Amino acid sequence: MKRRTFLATTLGLCTTLSLARASGAGGRVVVVGGGWGGLATARHLREMAPQLDVVLIDRQPEFWSQPLSNRWLVGLARSEWLKHDYRQAAQRFGYRFVAAEVKGIDRSSREVVTSAGRFAYDWLVLAPGIREDFSAWYGVDRDSAAYTRQHFPSAFPAGRDHLALKAKLEAFRGGELVMTIPPMPYRCPPAPYERAGLIAWWLKTRNIKGRLIVLDPNLPALSFDRIFRDSYRDQITYLPQAAVKSVDPFKRRIVTDFDTIDFADAILMPPQQAADLAWDSGLIGKTADGKPSGWAAADPVTLQAASDERIFLVGDVLDKVSPLFGQYPKTGQLAARLGRIAATQIAARAAGTTAEQLLPDSTCYVINRPEPKEMTRIETVYRFRGDGVIQQTVRQQYDPQAGDADLDWARLQFKELLGSTG
Ligand SMILES: Cc1cc2nc3c(=O)[nH]c(=O)nc-3n(C[C@H](O)[C@H](O)[C@H](O)COP(=O)(O)OP(=O)(O)OC[C@H]3O[C@@H](n4cnc5c(N)ncnc54)[C@H](O)[C@@H]3O)c2cc1C
Repeated sequence: MKRRTFLATTLGLCTTLSLARASGAGGRVVVVGGGWGGLATARHLREMAPQLDVVLIDRQPEFWSQPLSNRWLVGLARSEWLKHDYRQAAQRFGYRFVAAEVKGIDRSSREVVTSAGRFAYDWLVLAPGIREDFSAWYGVDRDSAAYTRQHFPSAFPAGRDHLALKAKLEAFRGGELVMTIPPMPYRCPPAPYERAGLIAWWLKTRNIKGRLIVLDPNLPALSFDRIFRDSYRDQITYLPQAAVKSVDPFKRRIVTDFDTIDFADAILMPPQQAADLAWDSGLIGKTADGKPSGWAAADPVTLQAASDERIFLVGDVLDKVSPLFGQYPKTGQLAARLGRIAATQIAARAAGTTAEQLLPDSTCYVINRPEPKEMTRIETVYRFRGDGVIQQTVRQQYDPQAGDADLDWARLQFKELLGSTG
């Protein structure tokens, strides 16, 4: 080893050791992202490995749930069901919450660089969710992307963005309201259709002379297509397999393969990818032809990042986990289950043992129609095939008298994530 390399390595080691010592005898886990995945990770880590110091970091000062948000958008849920206090959750479970922007990860010194300073870690859990990829529409034109985010927000990346979307809906007086659906894979696949049905109901019940035009690049969502035709013929035009070719957000014009639509207002959802932090930290996977896959690559069972044994990846940020079905569905409950799995893995490493191999599951309620309340319950379960490959089974159950099953589900989830039902 050359003298300079040796010195650099030794100095690096000293820094890491002193930071690790500063974080307590058991070591420190930093969890980035206090959404569904990060909250579950922090909670379960404190229970499974109480000797570890756990720090949860999120840029938002409070937690905003995406589940229930479509309901809330049209006045069918109360704000306090969605919005929760991070500090109370941290106090209940005994971890530290830091409201800060994470600017980067220094993998060599094992530090998280934030707007509130640097945090050394022994293990790092990244659960930063998704970002929207406007380059698919605008190339390198950042002005159009910024304008779209500000004026036509999808509210898909962050729950708090629903405030802007709700204000937009409340100000809508009529005309053509365009909603684009992202190509798969994207967060919570039924959510845009649920939102479309609820907005149509809202237009109908308020007698607003507006029409929601839904541009869907994916295959037709048949059950929703039927509901849109049966109940909201005058409120929705649903156009499946309609890929967006270009958008001019300033002129309010959108072009697909078949149509040019001038809109009064819009909810624009471009393709989705793993959040910025996964890109900036060099954790994005590769496709078979060597291009970036768009999502963060991890071992499907341990959730350990493909390129860093000290980093675990949790939630919607994750790339494919199985050749049989590709990615896990990007749902809140699944993200929380992955958080518990990452906690199990880290607790075992901290104890010098090997973790049990666990798989997640997901339950999701989708409102088909709000009056009378009809819902679909989507259950997704996983098991290992004989050769270790993960298999998926999806069951959908239509419930014509659903009551508030989605609220009951959400209360249980919030109890797990936050220690209270809100
Ligand atoms: C409209 C809608 C309805 C949905 N309905 C349901 C449903 O009914 N049931 C269900 O199970 N799922 C539902 N989902 C999906 C669910 O919300 C997501 O799957 C879930 O939030 C994923 O959790 P996550 O932890 O991966 O990401 P998130 O919950 O998005 O959390 C990521 C967190 O990381 C933070 N973050 C990111 N980058 C940084 C940074 N650099 N610095 C600091 N903080 C950062 C963000 O602020 C955010 O709080 C819905 C989604 C939407 C959009």
